[in-house]
Amino acid sequence: MTDTLAEKTENQSGSPASSETLSVRDICKSFDEHQALVNVSFELQPGEMLVALGPSGCGKTTLLRIVAGLESADHGELWLGSRRIDTLAPKDRDLSLVFQNYALYPHMTVAQNLAFPLKVKKVSKDEQLIKVNKIAEMLRLEDQLQKRPAQLSGGQRQRVVLGRAIIRQPKLFLLDEPLSNLDTELRAHMRREIVSLQKSLHTPAIYVTHDQTEALTMADKILVLKNGHMRQLGTPDEIYNKPADTFVAGFVGAPKMNFITCTYETGTIGRNSVAPLGVTFESLYPKGRGAVLRSGESFVMGIRPEGIIVGPLGEFKGRIQEVEFLGDRRVATMSFAGSEITFYTESKSFRAGDDIKFNLKKDSLHFFDLQSGKRLGV
Ligand code: ATP
Repeated sequence: MTDTLAEKTENQSGSPASSETLSVRDICKSFDEHQALVNVSFELQPGEMLVALGPSGCGKTTLLRIVAGLESADHGELWLGSRRIDTLAPKDRDLSLVFQNYALYPHMTVAQNLAFPLKVKKVSKDEQLIKVNKIAEMLRLEDQLQKRPAQLSGGQRQRVVLGRAIIRQPKLFLLDEPLSNLDTELRAHMRREIVSLQKSLHTPAIYVTHDQTEALTMADKILVLKNGHMRQLGTPDEIYNKPADTFVAGFVGAPKMNFITCTYETGTIGRNSVAPLGVTFESLYPKGRGAVLRSGESFVMGIRPEGIIVGPLGEFKGRIQEVEFLGDRRVATMSFAGSEITFYTESKSFRAGDDIKFNLKKDSLHFFDLQSGKRLGV
């Protein structure tokens, strides 16, 4: 379906609708004393999707509203290609915004809803009809054109919303949790459709979500925000595998990354040991860190659940606390080194209280500064 959709979009526009870069420069925004956004900057190439990710209240929607022109920034500039757009009214910015609530006109048919942006632009009736039919075909809505929104399923309604957003070929596409009202299966399907659609429209897009699966699967770039501050801007792979700090490491990934506070100690004969693991630092990280970590210095070691390998020859010992059955796999927690550690297991025999042995996958270890939480460059 997604291939067909992409092909149809290409055909519909003949060539990519836009090839302008979005440049967000040093945006700051406060509401009274509260800083909602602090020095937010990034660039998006045509066809690139940035997903703004972070906990509730981190500033995602404010960022989107500022780019849309529904809110003005206190500081900073927005550029689309060679045009500065933050000085323009929302209607002159050439963008489409899709909200989480279906914003369809209930008294209009699907065809009238789709045609509405063209009608506002005073596009001729004939052209409206051609474009509505093309969009309806693209989004598999041909049989729904004469229905009203109340007669559609959630997924069909959301497709009409998307159709209405793209029918006038915007130069920038903004989406604020557009799938949050859909069930899991439909969400997964619509994610693929949106990505395929956006790639073929060749516009930059900003997508706001607090759902990390959505972020990891859809984004070309993820912007992780916390309290209005940019904590990391990177590809999904960088965000997951090289998190900039313990906040990003803990926020992205479910179950979340395990953290163990460790101390680097050097003994009298010069041999180092990492407490409470009882191994040398080099055994965790072969390139070593002896020259950088001082004796007695503490740091945070992070390991994702998939980096814990359970087996009889494991060099570490833990005690199972609980095992959760998830259908395709089991997620277990164990107590180890004063921490609660989560890992995956295929064993059906683990019970709370069992002692197990395990190894740490060396290339899955992360090291962070204890005070700042920042990734240590080992
Ligand atoms: P959520 O995921 O819950 O939608 P968000 O990351 O989108 O959250 P924003 O809606 O951008 O967060 O809000 C960022 C911060 O700015 C919050 O602390 C919010 O209370 C505050 N805020 C947003 N809009 C206003 C406003 N119009 N007046 C005052 N404070 C506001």
